[in-house]
Formats: sequence, structure tokens, C-alpha cells
Amino acid sequence: MRYIINSSLTCPVCTSPDVRNVPFQYSFRGQCMRAYRCRTCGIIFIHPQPTSEQLRELYSAEYFEEGDFRCGHESSYCDPTALEHIANTGLLDEIKSIRPSGRFLEIGCAGGAFLHAARKAGYTVDGVEFSQDACRIAKATFGLDVHPGSVEDAHFPDESFDVVFMGDVIEHLPDPVTSIMEVQRILAAQGLLVLELPSQTNNLYSRTGFAVYGALGRTTTVGLPPYHLFEYRPRSLRFLLQRCGFDEVTIREGILSPRHINLRGSLIQRWSKKAFQYPNWCITRGLHVLGDRLTVYASKAPRRV
Ligand SMILES: [Zn+2]
Repeated sequence: MRYIINSSLTCPVCTSPDVRNVPFQYSFRGQCMRAYRCRTCGIIFIHPQPTSEQLRELYSAEYFEEGDFRCGHESSYCDPTALEHIANTGLLDEIKSIRPSGRFLEIGCAGGAFLHAARKAGYTVDGVEFSQDACRIAKATFGLDVHPGSVEDAHFPDESFDVVFMGDVIEHLPDPVTSIMEVQRILAAQGLLVLELPSQTNNLYSRTGFAVYGALGRTTTVGLPPYHLFEYRPRSLRFLLQRCGFDEVTIREGILSPRHINLRGSLIQRWSKKAFQYPNWCITRGLHVLGDRLTVYASKAPRRV
């Protein structure tokens, strides 16, 4: 593969200058946004990122109404059936088994379905949501007063929450170090951070695709807007969380069923993805590696005196 080394580019997570391009990019509004991988911490990121104005446009009402297919979901965050599904995945029961009660914050709560379920389960809830449209939906549907904007914009006091949950959010954040450090600040001592996220570059299809495209010196252009500003694998996620003051990081790798994955691209790409997903499904279920979905539990590390 022909590596492009941009000497002015450093890793946004660990600041290492040892970054290399990987063979995919976005094309958005006539601008090429290329993907790079840091060889120190392993994070994959796009550069340049969309501007804040472009991000506002990306998260208009259509993003939630047309379905977040980018993260592996098939249906809309505003569809009642989908809302019920989101709230009944068993995740809340798992969280309750670790922290049965307390103050619960969801960052990126979309239409508020999970937050509503958390409130019914006995938590005192609060929410943050970047999209003003989604904030209105959460209010109209569940009567939830959600803070519009980012978690930094909400200016919560120190140690405000016992549990912070982010579902399909961290890969969309433009500055994950600042955001996760803010989460660490607003979590109580021994507070719990729970993440769910896609890990699409971790699966067999993507790893093989990177190797083949790299060997051929080719780059594929993703046929979607640049929603994912970072692509996480277990190693890079663990690095980020530990850097931001978390320990006891547990990462569980899951896999989408081959029957339910969203297919796009050329016919060959769609068929290959399907063909790869079957063995991948068996490998991930048996060995807990190469997963395309990650569930993460991390505890706030004790303050070092
Ligand atoms: Zn790095």
C-alpha cells in the first residue's frame, strides 16, 4: 500500500505523529475526508472533520426520522416499535445489576426512549442531545426535559451522576478526549460509564477489505455522509478510556446477525459482506473477537493523591 504521511497531522487521541492513511474516505460537499489510523493507540479518524455548521446540518430531523442505518439499526429512533425495542434489549437490566439506583445521564438520548425506560426502572434521569429536533421529540413523547447541545454545554457540577450511558454516540463526537474527560468529571466516585457502539472496522469483512485495497493501492469512498468521525476497535477504545481516567474497563464484543445487516455498495460488496458475516458470526459468538458491536463498562478510577 502507498502510505500518505501527512507530517502536520497528529493523532487526536494520543497526539502521536505516527499516523498512516487507511483505504477509505468520505466525499462530502465536494470535499475529500480521508481516514487515518494512529499506529500508537490504534484509533481510526477522518481528516479533515466536518465543520460545526455541517454537523448541525447532518443531525437535522431527517437523521432520526429516516433511521440510523449507519450504526446498524434498521428503523427510526422516532418509530414507536423501534423505541420499544431500544428500551428492551436487556442492557438496562445489566446496568441495574451493577448500579441498581441513582442519578442516570444519557448523552445522545435521541427521542428519549431509553431514558424513559431508565426513569421507569427507578433512576433519576437527565439527558443531553445534540439535535434540537430530537429534544423536542423527547419532550413531546415522554415529557423529558433534555439539555440541547453537547455534554460540555450542559455544565453539570462535579460528580453529578452515578451512571452515564452513551449508545451509538462516541463515534460521532468530534473531540472524544475532551468529552470523555468531561464524563469522568461529572461521574461520582466509582461511577459507571456504559457505552454501546458499532465497531465496523473490527470485523472480518473490513479487515480483509483494508488488506486487499491496501495491497492494490486503492481507496474506497464510503457512500454516506461523514457521521462517524472516529472508528473504534477494542484496543483503541480501552486506550482512550484509560487515558481519560477510567479503569476496570470491560469490553464485550457482539455481532449483528447475517440476516439483519444493512447492505450497501456494489453487488459484489453486498454479497461479500453477507458471505463474510456468517463465519464472522460464528467466530464472534464462539471466541468473542472480530465483533462489529461493542458494549463497554468502565469505572471512574479513584483519584490519585
Ligand atoms: Zn493515537
